[in-house]
Amino acid sequence: MFVFDKMPDPVLGLGGLEPGLSTEEKAVQGAAHQFAREVMRPIGVALDKMTPEEVIAHSSPIWSYLKQIKDSGLLDLKALAAMSAQEKARMMPLIFEELGWGDSGLTIAAIALSFPAFAAGMSGNPELIEEFGSSLGCWVGTQPDRGSDAVDWDATEVHPGARQPRGNLNAKVVGDQVVVNGQSAAWVSAGPLAQSAFVCCQCDYGDGLWDAQGRPNLINVLVPFDHRVTKGKPLNKLGQRALPQGEIFFNEVVLSKKYIMNGRDTAAGGLFGIVTFANMDMAMTFTGVARAAFEHALAYVHERKQGGVALINHQSVRARIFNMWRKVETARALTRRVVDFNFGSNGPHLLASITGKTFVTQTAVEVANEALQLFGGNGLAKDYPLEKLLRDATASLIEDGENNLLSLKGATWLSKWYQHHS
Ligand SMILES: Cc1cc2nc3c(=O)[nH]c(=O)nc-3n(C[C@H](O)[C@H](O)[C@H](O)COP(=O)(O)OP(=O)(O)OC[C@H]3O[C@@H](n4cnc5c(N)ncnc54)[C@H](O)[C@@H]3O)c2cc1C
Repeated sequence: MFVFDKMPDPVLGLGGLEPGLSTEEKAVQGAAHQFAREVMRPIGVALDKMTPEEVIAHSSPIWSYLKQIKDSGLLDLKALAAMSAQEKARMMPLIFEELGWGDSGLTIAAIALSFPAFAAGMSGNPELIEEFGSSLGCWVGTQPDRGSDAVDWDATEVHPGARQPRGNLNAKVVGDQVVVNGQSAAWVSAGPLAQSAFVCCQCDYGDGLWDAQGRPNLINVLVPFDHRVTKGKPLNKLGQRALPQGEIFFNEVVLSKKYIMNGRDTAAGGLFGIVTFANMDMAMTFTGVARAAFEHALAYVHERKQGGVALINHQSVRARIFNMWRKVETARALTRRVVDFNFGSNGPHLLASITGKTFVTQTAVEVANEALQLFGGNGLAKDYPLEKLLRDATASLIEDGENNLLSLKGATWLSKWYQHHS
């Protein structure tokens, strides 16, 4: 049993029940927290109030944020790549939780913008690294007619007898060239800022858009933007308004084959990798959103008086606060387990990331909603932080795959595992 001489207050870190961080981990977490508090929160709040056009204008504070996050080194891809798997598994959740605590839309914007640079770096091709290394980018995966279908790229959730549509954005490999034609969905994160894209779409390699099983043939291709690429109006949406989004039109863009990152045999695996990383990223980031909502509520119930005392003195309020705390802790614990798994000897796997993303984003909505209730009418008011957090969290239920569709894919993986191992 545990023995105490006296009963001390619990020792809680920024990350709640933190069993212990190294000096370096504490320093990075502290730097991320300071950046989130001093840079991300004020800029995120300012952008939230702007129109989508104002968010991407030259005068927008988003440019100051992008410069500062780059200068901070917090999301330095080269530094992250140089870490061991174990170091990444410990460091990444600490950084992303703090950034998500600061502003989820701005966190996702920084990640989305680095997609092509990251892919070029993975290719090891010096020409591509030179061309895309400092290019602002985006990930083009979904299309007007292919939302969940794009996330269900291996068509495991297709109705019996049906097949996925050809969509609105296709590639064709002809000789030494690839031609990209059509349009993305309006949901491309950072699309309005981007100078290049990592495009994942259906591809005709000379024998049509579908394979023998009726699944789409796919390609992952880097596309630098020139006059053949145009953009639609930036999207006006409910939450994460600091994250600019918009449709992108590709008008018969002809590229040499060097831009193909994954062809017929490896493109599905490429998408598996992207969604596996992105869903893990969502779990890390939205742990921070849930925590932000909880912290606001904890402070508010100690200030606001009703029934003659501060709200925290009411038993039902205490129960609600504790329930929120427990949810945040559970979300963080699951997230870290998922990250450990993905960087461990049995990972990475989409099943792990989906488990984290669906649970944590749902938890973020529940905690933000309960925090809003505890703020009473003030929870609804624009001068208080809760209505924004609830809107930001709500968008996360659909982002990087709508949670119900992701859950179906998770169940499909569980069933496959059961059938192969029982
Ligand atoms: C904040 C945000 C950021 C995003 N960023 C990007 C980005 O950077 N790049 C990009 O390409 N896209 C991006 N997206 C798009 C996102 O991936 C899609 O919105 C998402 O996959 C859902 O597609 P949809 O909106 O077309 O909904 P739909 O696919 O039309 O789904 C509607 C409903 O039907 C259900 N449904 C659909 N298919 C099935 C099925 N087979 N079985 C059972 N139920 C089903 C879904 O679960 C959902 O509830 C982003 C979206 C958001 C909200």
